[in-house]
Formats: sequence, C-alpha cells, structure tokens
Amino acid sequence: MYGTYWGQFEEIGKYNAELNVAERLWAAWYAWMQNDVLATGIMSFVMHELVYFGRSLPWIFIDTLGMFNRYKIQGNKIPSLREQWDCAKFVLLSHFTVELPQIWLFHPLAQFCGLSTSIPFPTLWTMAYQIAIFFVMEDTWHYFSHRALHWGPLYKAIHKIHHQYSAPFGLAAEYASPIEVMILGFGTIGCPIVWCAMTGELHILTMYIWIVLRLFQAIDAHSGYEFPWSLHHFLPFWAGADHHDLHHEKFIGNYSSSFRWWDYVLDTEYTPDALKRRRENKAKVSKAQ
Ligand SMILES: [Zn+2]
Ligand SMILES: [Zn+2]
Repeated sequence: MYGTYWGQFEEIGKYNAELNVAERLWAAWYAWMQNDVLATGIMSFVMHELVYFGRSLPWIFIDTLGMFNRYKIQGNKIPSLREQWDCAKFVLLSHFTVELPQIWLFHPLAQFCGLSTSIPFPTLWTMAYQIAIFFVMEDTWHYFSHRALHWGPLYKAIHKIHHQYSAPFGLAAEYASPIEVMILGFGTIGCPIVWCAMTGELHILTMYIWIVLRLFQAIDAHSGYEFPWSLHHFLPFWAGADHHDLHHEKFIGNYSSSFRWWDYVLDTEYTPDALKRRRENKAKVSKAQ
C-alpha cells in the first residue's frame, strides 16, 4: 500500500493533520515519484497541455457552431475546423520537440534560484500580489521584445510564422517559431524566476497559477471575439482580444500582451480612438505651422 500514490497520500495525512487535501495530494506526488525533476517536469507538461487545449476547446466550439458570430471581430473570417486542426498539429509538434526538453531543465533551474516545492502552500495574499507583479513584468518584457520582433529582419526570420493567421483564433496563441516561443516564453517563465532570485520567496504553485492565468490571457486574446462582457470593459487598461486581433489584422501597433499602457505611453496603440487622436494631433501641428 505504501508503494502506491494513495498509500503515500494516507501516510502523509497520518502525520500532518494540519495540511489540507490539496497540500497532501501535492506532497504525495513528490514522495511517490521519488524524483523531483521528473515530478515537476511531468506536472508542468501535463498542466500546460490540459490548460492550452482545454481553454482552446470552447473557442473551437464557438467557431464551429457559429454561436457568437455577431461578436466575431473579423466577422467574415471564421476559421474552419481543418485550419484549426492544422494549427493544433503544429503546436503539438513544437510542444513535444522543443518544449519538452526545456521543461526538464525547469526544476534544477527553479531549485537553483530557490523556488519552493514544499508544503504548506503560501497564503492567498502572497500568491495574489506576486502574480500581479508577474503580469506587469511579463507585459513589459512582451511589449519590447514583441516590438523588436517586428523589426524587418527579425520579423522575416522569426515572427512571420505567428502572423500567418491575420484573423487569429484561440489555438493560434502558441503558433510560432521555436525561437519566438523561447524569447516571449522568457517573460512567462523568466520573470518569476528573476523575482525569486531577487527576493528568495516564491512557491512553484504560485508559478503554476500564474502560468495558467497567462495561458488564459494569451488564448483569449487570440480568440477573435469581442463581447460586451469582455474584461477590458471593466478594467480599461486590460488589453484582451480587441487589442490583439487588430495587431494580427494590421501587423502594426498593439505590441503588449496583458495591458494597454505601454502602447498608450509609447504611442503604438492601434485602435480607432488612437488613430483619431493621431489625426487630430497632426492637424493641430500643421495648423500651428
Ligand atoms: Zn506581432
Ligand atoms: Zn498573436
């Protein structure tokens, strides 16, 4: 019994009555695997696949069944199932060939930087404020590296693949060159690790929740749908699909991932409002001359 996962789970419960179920499941996984690199690697890979395809699935249904056609941003460009399947195959291939070996490096790197895998878990407040910081850090990294990827030679060599879909859909979020996955992925994986190296305080569970939220953000930003209940109507600085869809349609502007502020401050916003503002400013300048 002790050799099975549930045996471990019971054993841990006997001596650690203060732990909750999630903490016991977690500790039993590491105890049962007896190999932390493998335990973290498998958990990370499975989590990424489940969240990526799980979150894309509702968007595939919505496209195929035409449920929300009136909210589709580029209404005449609904991706066919065939197109989505081709995209999914490419993404899967890159997950298994390029990402899987990198995931194996994650645990040693995380341990080196002091990421905790132990129990009890951090408090909700600790997780929340750290995740908020990661959102801001990642968005900044994303803005500047994505903007650099639009520089001619880099665009041709790397970023063009991601722009194959001028009307994006959920699954297209990670449709990109492996080099781009590494550059932009650094924002998602590297920011928390840099934070941990600096403060010495980060639990890998916080990192997982952050990655799940970041995947939701990326997939939803590529969904191609703008709803009256989309998040940016409530949080005006949130970017969302209407921001990134225009980036795919026009290939210019709207470079950041989660927030609108960098594009606003550096005048790379590409929205009807921003275009109007730019036109008015130009008119003002020419009048003054
Ligand atoms: Zn781009
Ligand atoms: Zn994109």
